[in-house]
Parts: sequence; structure tokens; C-alpha cells
Amino acid sequence: MTESFKKVSAIRGMNDLLPDVSHQWEALELTLQKWLHLYGYRNMRVPVLEHTRLFTRGIGEVTDIVEKEMYTFTDSLNGESLTLRPEFTAGVVRASIEHNLLYERPQRIYSIGPVFRHERPQRGRYRQFHQLDVEGLGFAGPDIDVEMILMTARLWRMLGIDGIELELNTLGQLSERQAHRTALIAHLEAHKDTLDEDGLRRMYSNPLRVLDTKNPAMQEMANAAPRLFDFLGKESRAHFKSICDRLDDAGIAYRVNPRMVRGLDYYNLTVFEWVTDRLGAQATVCGGGRYDDLISLLGGKPAPAVGFAIGLERLVDLWSQSQELGAPPQCDVYVVHQGDSALTQALRLGEAIRDAGMRVIVHAGSGSFKAQMRRADHSQAAIAVILGESEIESGQASVKTLRRAGEAIQGDQASVWFADVPAYLQRQIIG
Ligand code: ATP
Ligand code: MG
Repeated sequence: MTESFKKVSAIRGMNDLLPDVSHQWEALELTLQKWLHLYGYRNMRVPVLEHTRLFTRGIGEVTDIVEKEMYTFTDSLNGESLTLRPEFTAGVVRASIEHNLLYERPQRIYSIGPVFRHERPQRGRYRQFHQLDVEGLGFAGPDIDVEMILMTARLWRMLGIDGIELELNTLGQLSERQAHRTALIAHLEAHKDTLDEDGLRRMYSNPLRVLDTKNPAMQEMANAAPRLFDFLGKESRAHFKSICDRLDDAGIAYRVNPRMVRGLDYYNLTVFEWVTDRLGAQATVCGGGRYDDLISLLGGKPAPAVGFAIGLERLVDLWSQSQELGAPPQCDVYVVHQGDSALTQALRLGEAIRDAGMRVIVHAGSGSFKAQMRRADHSQAAIAVILGESEIESGQASVKTLRRAGEAIQGDQASVWFADVPAYLQRQIIG
């Protein structure tokens, strides 16, 4: 007797992408690749699992991600602490250092795939989600910072997405942030009674993050806080101005948001986000910035860098709101057949039609002609090729048109010599 088995379901916050929607993802991935190649970015694939200390060091101890969102566990075989990647940048930088990628020249790199964060699942916020990550390693900017913003703006155009706005800020350099930090902590100390729990906890460890609060009771205090911009030196200001000037030149609208700090510790100078009000509570589709200290922080030869990441679930959500993303037909040709010799002929013809570049489903399993034709119709094939006893005897397939320009029709039926079927179909389908 077999023991009964309790059905297994997916882990909360980790989604299955079923065939009825995955065509949107396939279409998106094709567009993304084409777009990235337009700008000369090359692909890098890094492991899903890394040593935990890569992320604690690379992302920063006092960040939401490291404090509470990482999937960390001990490898039971050797006791090492491992973490499922919560983002790409740390892994991409590690790999670039490990393989000396920056030795010869700077690198334009992109990665795409799942990342993992232990957050409360809701629309636009999952525990396994997908990011497109783009990095410019070894570039000091501001030219490449501008390039990255121009390229994201082009992606929205290519996808036909609107209703998404650019927010921009500069975080200056570390020494400038330190001077500001001293002034900021003094301000927070003076308003200690208005700080919430997170604010009190981060007051000394990450005071800039305290200003990024969504707590309404803290807004007035945050608005009155000393501004980082007032602490920036000439070079940092020039870097920022150069970006703003180029965006003006390209006609890209933006809003300077002096409070934006981004979720990761490692940014300096440029930070930007593309935000929208069309995704419910989750506003940010794309976020990025410059991280000139990260490569040396992770043990590499110091080199500047800039990058951004797009959350693909949010992008697909937004895209399907702007465009009708109907499913494409499953195939061009559906082959129905009855009888043993007909099956042999069906398999042969299927291969021959594919040789000619058309997409074919050869009916699998049993079924009456009528049932098979229903499957053919469901597949949205343009043409059915029918092989029964009389077709095998005559050496000619019956070819029936089912759809023209995607619309179902009462098509005519033709008899076509087996050898001529691929060319005949090609004329019918490709024209
Ligand atoms: P948020 O403020 O929404 O938590 P974040 O600052 O943590 O975002 P980043 O680390 O910059 O996000 O990640 C880049 C992008 O990945 C985000 O702009 C968003 O589109 C997407 N993203 C982040 N967290 C999630 C998640 N849990 N589920 C789905 N997408 C996410
Ligand atoms: Mg987050």
C-alpha cells in the first residue's frame, strides 16, 4: 500500500509563472536583450548562492536587506554560511575582481534572473522576484551615468510604457557625507522625541535613512534637517550639474529629490529612481546609482562604477497595463492523423515542415479526427494537415486553412503531395 502524500505547494511569496502569462516574460526578455545590445552591454551570469559575507560587506550591515531580508543558512556539509543573492551587484563585482575583468578596460555588463528577499508578500513585492541588473564597471562618469538614464528612458519608449517619472539626487562623496552626518545627528538628537523606533535605532548607524521615513509624524523634522547638498564640494556639484544639463539636452524630465538615499549602503554621487503611481503601494520600478567605493571594499583594485536594477514583476505589471499583451499562437501548423502508417507520415512531415522554418505540433496521443481538430483550433494554428487512411493511399495530405490573419475562417481544403507540403505551407503562411 502506498502511503498517502500531502500535496506540496510553492513557498509563500515565490511564484509560478504559468504558460498563459509566460509569453509576456519571453517577449520582455527578447526586448531587453535587443535594448541592452543597442548600448553595447554584455551578459554575465553569476551564481544564485554566495558566501554570506559578500553581501554583509557589499550591501552594508545597517540596511533593510542585510538586517532582515536575506535567506541565509548554514551549509550542512562544511558549516559555511551561505546566502541566496538578494541583488546582483555584489556578485557581479566579486566575479569581476576574481576574474580580473577590469585589468584591461572598463566593462558594460548586464545580468538577469531571480533574486531572493524575505519580505511580506504583496502586489509587486515577492520573496523570489526577478531583476535586470546593469553595471558600468570602471567608469568615473558623469557620461555613463547619463547613458544609463537615457537607456532606461528608451526602454520605457520601446515597451510603450508611460506614467513613469525620474527622480534624481546626489549623495556626494564620503567625506562630504561625514560632515553632513555630524550636523544631521545633532539635528536628530535635538528632535529625539519625534523619532519612531526605526529612527531611534538608525540615528547613529544610518542617520540618512532616518530621513527617508514614510512616517507622517516625522515629516516636519525630516524637512527641517540639514541638507546634504549644502555640504557638497565643487567637484560633486559639477558632476551632478553635468548630468542635469545632459538630461535637459535630451529632453528627459526629472525631479530632484534631495531625500532619496536608496536602500543600499554603497552609493555615492548619483542616485536615481524611476517611480510610478500605477503599481499600488510599490512605486519604484528601477533604481540605481554610483558606487565608486564598492570594488575596493570587496578587495579589488579601486575603480569607480555605476549601475541600476529593474524589478521585472513590476515592469511586466506596468507593461500589461499600457499594452494589450495577447498570447501568440502556439504553432503555425497542427498535424492530425489516424492510424499507424499515418503516424509515421505525420512524424516525417512534422520534421520536414520544421526544416522549412515553421512551428509544428504533431498531435500526440489518441483521439478522433474531431477531437484532434479541436486541439488544432485551440493551438491557434493557421493550418491543419490531415492524414487519414485515404491520404496515405493517395500519397496526398489534406491541408485545411483554419485562420487568416489570426481570425478563424471556414477555410477550403486542398490535396497536396507529401513532398510538396512544406513548400505549399510556406506559400500559405509566409506568403
Ligand atoms: P523597495 O523600496 O520597493 O523595497 P528596494 O530599494 O529594496 O525597493 P532595490 O534593492 O533597488 O529595491 O531593487 C531594485 C528593484 O527591484 C526595485 O526598484 C523594485 O522594482 C524591485 N524589487 C525590490 N524588492 C522587490 C520585491 N520584494 N519584489 C519584487 N520586486 C522588488
Ligand atoms: Mg526593499
